[in-house]
Amino acid sequence: MPKILLVEDNEMNRDMLSRRLVRQGFAVATAADGQEGIRMARSEAPDLIVTDLSLPVIDGWEVTRRLKADNSTRHIPVLALSAHAMPEDLNRAMLAGCDDFDTKPVQFSRLLEKVGMLLERKCDVPKT
Ligand code: MN
Repeated sequence: MPKILLVEDNEMNRDMLSRRLVRQGFAVATAADGQEGIRMARSEAPDLIVTDLSLPVIDGWEVTRRLKADNSTRHIPVLALSAHAMPEDLNRAMLAGCDDFDTKPVQFSRLLEKVGMLLERKCDVPKT
């Protein structure tokens, strides 16, 4: 079963999303800030990372930049979540290396669709 790392500082959102993903059959690891997120991306080797963009310690844009600059984590797809659904945020997320983007409040079925697409795509692309 694919493993998802969820990086979200809002405890209620984190617990809710994590429970719903587990119910779908995913293994879920969670982190509450960007620094912990980077550490866990390395230690947990998840198949996909879902990260909030507004995070304490290191924000989601910088988390993504660092993961994509690291050979051990750059192959992991990153799906960014943000309440600021401005085109500018989307742009910054894509420039930082995010593979996809979704807006908060999370619409779970839409998120699942994006998760599924990213996991499929990863299987098609050999790791570099
Ligand atoms: Mn946040």
